[in-house]
Amino acid sequence: MLRIPCPWCGERDETEFRYRGDASRERPAGDAGLTAFTNYVYARENRFGWHLEWWLHVGGCRRLLKVLRHTLSHEIRAVGGPGDSLD
Ligand SMILES: [Zn+2]
Repeated sequence: MLRIPCPWCGERDETEFRYRGDASRERPAGDAGLTAFTNYVYARENRFGWHLEWWLHVGGCRRLLKVLRHTLSHEIRAVGGPGDSLD
């Protein structure tokens, strides 16, 4: 089981969290066009290696956090709030 260290609550089981998506994606500009928005909403990569993700702590503080996690080993290198840069 994955253990996620919430910056506000401490380390908790994965079952207290909900995955909310890729945190490295940037929303296209308003005039970017339909193709750019379609790719932003629907196109997903199945990456290998370090991945920046959004997780919501629904069973705790109910805050959104960024997690830098390795997709193979599930090692977590960094955790922070939405405004934090973890790269
Ligand atoms: Zn929390």
